[in-house]
Amino acid sequence: MASKKKSAATGEIVLPPLEFKPPVSDKQQQQGLLLACRQVEQYPATVMLVAQALKNRADQIMLDYAQQGVAVRFRVNGLWEAMPPMDRATGDPVLVILKRLCVLNPADRRSRQSNKLPLSLNGDWIIEFTSIGTPTGERVLMRIEPKKPILKTLSDLGMRDKMQEQVKAMLNADKSLAIISGPPGHGLPTMWRVALESADKFVRDFHIFEDKAGAEPELINVTQHLFDAQAGETPMTLLPSLLLKQPDVLVLPDFMNEETVKTVCEEVLEENRHAITKVVAPSAVEALIRLAVTYKNQAKQLMKMANGVTNQRLMRRLCDKCKQAFQPQPQLLQKLGIPAGRVTALYQPFVPPPPEQRVDAKGNPVEIEICKQCDGRGYYGRIGVFEFLTVNDAIRSAVLSQPAPAHVGAVAKQQGHRNLQEEAILTVAMGLTSLQELQRVFAPPAPKK
Ligand SMILES: [Zn+2]
Repeated sequence: MASKKKSAATGEIVLPPLEFKPPVSDKQQQQGLLLACRQVEQYPATVMLVAQALKNRADQIMLDYAQQGVAVRFRVNGLWEAMPPMDRATGDPVLVILKRLCVLNPADRRSRQSNKLPLSLNGDWIIEFTSIGTPTGERVLMRIEPKKPILKTLSDLGMRDKMQEQVKAMLNADKSLAIISGPPGHGLPTMWRVALESADKFVRDFHIFEDKAGAEPELINVTQHLFDAQAGETPMTLLPSLLLKQPDVLVLPDFMNEETVKTVCEEVLEENRHAITKVVAPSAVEALIRLAVTYKNQAKQLMKMANGVTNQRLMRRLCDKCKQAFQPQPQLLQKLGIPAGRVTALYQPFVPPPPEQRVDAKGNPVEIEICKQCDGRGYYGRIGVFEFLTVNDAIRSAVLSQPAPAHVGAVAKQQGHRNLQEEAILTVAMGLTSLQELQRVFAPPAPKK
């Protein structure tokens, strides 16, 4: 408090206690670098940019440098929001500071440069900084992640208990293939990590085969085998010698080629091993189809060993502090497939009335209080919606006979499968998210021009 008063008197700006930790091993060199950056007039603007992003709970910052200025955007709850732009007189030195903190070359504004910059502010964070020249200037993307993953278990992700048991059973099964899938931008890397963490790794040994360029941090009790895809290597470069050691579980985030699929199928079906893979696809059914179509010569074997598929979507969670209840029309509930009498209220985000309506009876303007928790966004954080598809013979033959999402989806429904959209409607019925968000997340992708 004392320092705040003092600075108010002297007119200084109080900077949040943010500490950058430039990635250099020598402490003295690190201190020297920090000292040099702090002496630049725009250092406070650099600190404020990152602190503002953290305050808004943004997970990405984008800066677009063009002749007329610097556009600033934060990604909050999965959506990009425009922030006040910076002029070049501020933006250019801010970028020089950021690049110096990342131990990159500030003079190079064309090549792609990237590095990780640790920092602390109410906890430890890591910025993954990337800059690259564009036709109009330069673009900077900073991904911000907590240093220690916050989401560690399937419960942390918001998966309900029954499904957690199904997913664990799939991961811990024998002679089969477990498939973790999801569309881009919906938490697939987190789901992948958490799923592998949830598997029982004490009785069986796990081996993961990854391209060294995109390898995830090592997981406890999973032996990592790195190949170099750029040099033409694939999992097959390493797999044969490992197989001599009789591994139990083969984890392949990407099969890469048919040869790997063939080897894994043989090992799983004939040698009693287990495999886990990851597929980028918008639904569990489409993940199965994608595997069968991509490796069509091995489709039969792949389907034979597939035992389950997970998929998920992230939806914005309604802000608890300001969400508004409304009574849904019976027709709406019917359309959503919610049984009558089950739900008495649905919720929507609070939307402040337009300015012309923000007046009292006498026509005087009234202040509308903006929710402090969500800053008037109406949403606070995101929530995972999951599906789990049990792969049985009916689904196997549906994929092999007619690998089309509508056909396989219909067969899955007959088998009692609840798809992502149906799972998401339950989340709406529980008041955790809104119909508008449901429509946004499940809107068909815009047609490509
Ligand atoms: Zn709110």
